[in-house]
Amino acid sequence: MHKDIATPARTRAILDKYGFSFKKSLGQNFLIDTNILRRIVDHADLSEESGAIEIGPGIGALTEQLARRSKKVLAFEIDQRLLPILEETLSPYPHVSIINEDVLKADVKTAIEQEFEGINDIMVVANLPYYVTTPIIMKLLEDKLPIRGIVCMLQKEVADRISARPGTKEYGSLSIAVQYYTEAETAMIVPKTVFVPQPNVDSAVIKLTKRKEPAVAVKSESFFFKVTKASFAQRRKTLLNNLTSQLPGGKQKKEHILSALEQANVEPGRRGETLSIEEFARLSDALLPHFS
Ligand code: SAM
Repeated sequence: MHKDIATPARTRAILDKYGFSFKKSLGQNFLIDTNILRRIVDHADLSEESGAIEIGPGIGALTEQLARRSKKVLAFEIDQRLLPILEETLSPYPHVSIINEDVLKADVKTAIEQEFEGINDIMVVANLPYYVTTPIIMKLLEDKLPIRGIVCMLQKEVADRISARPGTKEYGSLSIAVQYYTEAETAMIVPKTVFVPQPNVDSAVIKLTKRKEPAVAVKSESFFFKVTKASFAQRRKTLLNNLTSQLPGGKQKKEHILSALEQANVEPGRRGETLSIEEFARLSDALLPHFS
């Protein structure tokens, strides 16, 4: 077996050799703890037949662990300066492909078709750049990729919001958007000391397992997400107030909103944070005819 990339000494040596300086604006906090990396990969339940997609391989610390436990790794890295480094550090792993692209602009579906032919089990595993955590997760889910799920490191505060249950202060439109597509659980809390440079916030690893069907059936997905966003626009306001002020033409349609709330069996004086995803689905379906 080759020497691990993710030790403090080897990471320092690689960075020094290439004169690499971290770009804060790209969320570059590299992992220097092999144990943590192995535990992250454990949560992905990979087999020798699996494919792994990584967002932001950095100098290859996690990529290497994924390469040792899967058939094929495909990684998207935005920072061109890392390409020669990755070429060297990952040279023992010919089944790793690096795409030098912003993952938010990339056609991930086509890349999967091209790179994972004959592979049926695909997981996304990543230590995400924290400045774009939510857009990346939402893109991966909304693109409806043929993946089993996502295991990723992110800010603990965002992990808490993603896996929050109704009635808690963390519960919001992000919890609903992610839980609509996946079953979400926080897999582990990670100390700052395993990164270089250390981030300013606490970190956690979440595991998102894609559902076979969305958590609820709704007549219009885009309207369902509009209604959930509107319902949390001002957390201290009631549902009725948020819906009338946030939905297009809501103020003129107050009576319709009231009757839709009644039809969905939801009290207008409740706050968004108390509604389950099923209640939001009923409400969105009842409101839809008045807003289309
Ligand atoms: N995987 C490495 C590790 O764990 O040590 C590095 C993780 S670091 C938190 C995030 C990585 O994502 C950096 O390499 C950064 O350059 C890259 N990155 C930032 N924004 C990106 C984007 N929009 N698309 C692809 N990669 C991005």
